[in-house]
Amino acid sequence: MEETDTGTAGQPVASKGAEDHMQCVRCLRDTASKIAEAPDKSHGWELYFCTYCHYSWRNIEPDYITDIGKRDPWGQLDGKDIEAVKTITESEYRTTKEGPGAGNGR
Ligand SMILES: [Zn+2]
Repeated sequence: MEETDTGTAGQPVASKGAEDHMQCVRCLRDTASKIAEAPDKSHGWELYFCTYCHYSWRNIEPDYITDIGKRDPWGQLDGKDIEAVKTITESEYRTTKEGPGAGNGR
């Protein structure tokens, strides 16, 4: 088995079936893999996850999700340096600032 380190964004994922990497439909890197499938063994659906851009999708979603050529270019990350995207920390997310209008009455 080969381990491919594509950068610092990759975090260990529950790696069932991680041995067969596939192309991510969003960032187009070969860093996606199947992480789950229908538990009843019906092959009714499979769930894929990309360890680079953290996108996940199921094979049964519409082609504008699963077909790279039909996806909205606006959301595509191929060629984008997502390492440069700012990570929001929990302290930033949980702001202590009052929301607009708070304490102002009506
Ligand atoms: Zn990706």
